[in-house]
Amino acid sequence: MQGFNKYYPPDFDPQKHGSLNAYQGKHALGDRARKLDKGILIVRFELPFNIWCGTCNNHIGMGVRYNAEKKKIGNYYSTPIYSFRCKCHLCDGWFEIQTDPKAISGARQKDEEWDPAENGGFAVHETDPNQGPVDPLAALEKSTDAQNHMNNVQIPRIEALQNLSDHYSSDPYAHSLRVRKRFREKKKLDKAREEADEHIKSAYGLPETLALTTEDEESKAKAKEQWEQARQAMEERESAKRRRIGAEIAVLPSASSSRLSARATHSRAGGSSSSGDPVSALRAKILGNTARQAGSLGGLGRSKPPDAKSSNLKGGLVKRV
Ligand SMILES: [Zn+2]
Repeated sequence: MQGFNKYYPPDFDPQKHGSLNAYQGKHALGDRARKLDKGILIVRFELPFNIWCGTCNNHIGMGVRYNAEKKKIGNYYSTPIYSFRCKCHLCDGWFEIQTDPKAISGARQKDEEWDPAENGGFAVHETDPNQGPVDPLAALEKSTDAQNHMNNVQIPRIEALQNLSDHYSSDPYAHSLRVRKRFREKKKLDKAREEADEHIKSAYGLPETLALTTEDEESKAKAKEQWEQARQAMEERESAKRRRIGAEIAVLPSASSSRLSARATHSRAGGSSSSGDPVSALRAKILGNTARQAGSLGGLGRSKPPDAKSSNLKGGLVKRV
């Protein structure tokens, strides 16, 4: 009998007994603590889900209450795990449910996953109608093809890439050395070319921003060709001029005899001709002047390309490197 009331018997001695429970020889929790020496407390336990009893195979609904033996069986980190051992009310079997939700023994939990169709939603169905049942041979063939592809294509490719990577990154010092050497050589060449350009520009008074072509066989041949063309054109002009003057002289006597006589007189007054014929004297003088001029121009042209007659100044000059 638990000490529910405050009746103190006449032989109760507070010094000796301490409390009414101790006087009665009972625990404060009464009968529920009768297995407390084994670490078991008997509590009222309510089934958290539907189960089938493992012994009688009856369905037991969620919410059925049992007097369960509660025992601490371990820890998940600092969280204690309790087990609740219940006796089936339909048979004599026992089942045990733990606070670790996966652990259940002596019974079977009813599989109650969320069903959207049952709860006003849409059921999930297979979306591909052509997909038949899985053919194990087809699946095997597929996996064999994948294996072959991996062995014959993917692995060699990865190995080739790995080799290439090793080749480029195995010796960074040698690569750096080679690159820097090449850079120095190129820099030296560029500097020499720049100095030669400056020299030519200052020698000919060319603008600083003028870009000079590089000297090679092609540009040399091109420049020579242009120079020859310009020289030929100049010679043609000179000969045409000469012919025109000759023709003018030939038609002079019939065109204007008065002017001719005046010019012939002037020419004779200069004393340049010893001949008595004024026309032939004038002609000889003009032709002589023209020939002298052409000769002097030709001499100039031989020493240097004819700048004034050249259509392309840049084409006539080549760099000396
Ligand atoms: Zn049962």
